Amino acid sequence: MITLKGKGVYGGIAIGRIAFFRRRGVDVRRHTVSDPQAELDRFMRAKKQALRELKELYEKALRDIGESGARIFEIHGMMLEDDDYNDSVVNTIRVEKVNAEYAVSTAAENFSMVFSSMDDPYMKERAADIRDISNRLVMALAGKKGDRSEADEKERIVCADDLAPSETMQLDRDKVAAFVTAEGSVNSHTAILARTMGIPAVIAVGKELFEAKDGVEVIVDGFTGNVYLSPDQKTMTAMRARMEEDRKAKALLQKYKGMDNVTLDGTRIDVFANIQGLREVGAALLNDAGGIGLFRSEFLYLDRSDFPDEEEQFQVYKTVLQSMGGKKVVIRTLDIGADKQVGYFNLEKEQNPAMGMRAIRICLTRPEIFRTQLRALLRASVFGTLAIMFPMITSVEEVLSIRETVEEVRKELEKKRIATSPDTELGIMIETPAAAVISDLLAPLVDFFSVGTNDLTQYTLALDRQNQSVAPFFDPHHEAVLRLIALAAENAHRHGKWIGICGELGSDPELTETFLRMGIDELSVSPAYILPLRDQIRNTDLSDPPQKRKEPNAT
Ligand code: PEP
Ligand code: MG
Repeated sequence: MITLKGKGVYGGIAIGRIAFFRRRGVDVRRHTVSDPQAELDRFMRAKKQALRELKELYEKALRDIGESGARIFEIHGMMLEDDDYNDSVVNTIRVEKVNAEYAVSTAAENFSMVFSSMDDPYMKERAADIRDISNRLVMALAGKKGDRSEADEKERIVCADDLAPSETMQLDRDKVAAFVTAEGSVNSHTAILARTMGIPAVIAVGKELFEAKDGVEVIVDGFTGNVYLSPDQKTMTAMRARMEEDRKAKALLQKYKGMDNVTLDGTRIDVFANIQGLREVGAALLNDAGGIGLFRSEFLYLDRSDFPDEEEQFQVYKTVLQSMGGKKVVIRTLDIGADKQVGYFNLEKEQNPAMGMRAIRICLTRPEIFRTQLRALLRASVFGTLAIMFPMITSVEEVLSIRETVEEVRKELEKKRIATSPDTELGIMIETPAAAVISDLLAPLVDFFSVGTNDLTQYTLALDRQNQSVAPFFDPHHEAVLRLIALAAENAHRHGKWIGICGELGSDPELTETFLRMGIDELSVSPAYILPLRDQIRNTDLSDPPQKRKEPNAT
């Protein structure tokens, strides 16, 4: 057994076999299509093939093992014909104009999540069946027979040097039990994605990872950051026990569903979800999110060869708003740049992209991109409770210019008699020290603030969040960061505005009490952290004198 040590970025244990990430691999990828009808036809053909295969399997099993063993293939056939499942695939192809493989894997993910969350053990087991039939469909779409090889039966632990956000997003989540990277930093978007997806992940284990081979058995402990290659029996037994403990702890948290986010002394706070796209809406709902506090809309722009047009964006925003059934949805305008590079934006190569042409700076200098997104957002606003949020703000002028553009776009739409909601809130991210320091000047101009602690920490401490070698200096609990958040909260409230936190610090249980005492109104976290956070809030008593926090830099 070899033990590699890295950093756990999402707690959880996974046992499986190594599958090295191949950049030209066969994982299901999302791409947009010009002819959705052709994809619908492909889907129908694949479904027919899958049904034929299942019938053959049923007959073979009936002969070999009898009626009770064969029944599963009959159930799979029924699931393949299920109206809800089929509608979900068809709508995703139609609305998102995407390939059938992606639509099938999205439906598989959403439905398997719904089944896994059920109390009835029989229904719970159907989650695996949904994945199975979806896998069969994907294989049929690729022109292959859907009976999985032995290697596919194992849970895959995806290993790579590092994964770009777009690559992480493309992983077929149904087959990925965990991921491990040789490099990477805790605050990178890849780590954030692992948390959003709720997949155990360990990063920065070092190059020794490549001494292992595909198919080697591995245990990933996302709690401690340990990765055990070819584990011995003792470790295997201990980790299986830990896995069971974790499963029980997560099951216990289910009791918090439907409960308020209220402290023992009666202080309330909203707990919302961070999402990257339609895919995570199911997870947000299943984990009882009070709304969406951060929809990172730039993920719509990644992993494709051209801009998403207004109609495509409109359909996605509308679907999220409708799915959230009137709960608030904060959509952040695109935050491209820095680690989220997209070729067709034709951005110049920069020495220091984190401080370069990023986010609102692109929008303000390339108004055609900004206006297209704003048109899509404002059109969608009538389908729910929308709030639009702008990233990387540093000045009053930027906010005034944004407001002017929003008003112009709104008027253009009105002229064309296209309805927009008058209640759409406009807010900004507080993720630069400049924005926090002048938050007294910014608050009167907006409806809300949301603190992006990931960037606020990087810019306050002058520490690149992507750079693993400065990780030991990265201290998100640094007093400077906390004081900037407190200052922004004070200024927001002085002007009657609400303030949330949507950076990773929002889910840090060590700071929940601190944020509650600052009067933060909303915490927006990855869906899997909502119930643990509710647990933390409900066990906090603000009538107790504050616990003195350890000064992080004190010696
Ligand atoms: C942040 O900076 O904290 C934030 C939420 O934005 P992102 O992580 O997408 O940069
Ligand atoms: Mg940010």
